Amino acid sequence: MKYIKCPRCGINYILPYQQHCSVCKDELEGRKSIFDTEDYDSLICPYCEKNTMDIDEVMCKQCAKRRSKKQTDD
Ligand SMILES: [Zn+2]
Ligand SMILES: [Zn+2]
Repeated sequence: MKYIKCPRCGINYILPYQQHCSVCKDELEGRKSIFDTEDYDSLICPYCEKNTMDIDEVMCKQCAKRRSKKQTDD
């Protein structure tokens, strides 16, 4: 099978019948990686009001980490 370059990012290779590479596909579908905060379906953490978190999470990863640490000395 011959690979072609993804027309969108021009970095990744895709199969001819694919429109975009998986990275671009994720982006186009709004399922962006954790590092991209704005244009994806995420919420602002209510605890620090700074970081984003997934909809099914209670708090962001930082707060969760801080919390689990804090439990012992609080
Ligand atoms: Zn791409
Ligand atoms: Zn937080």
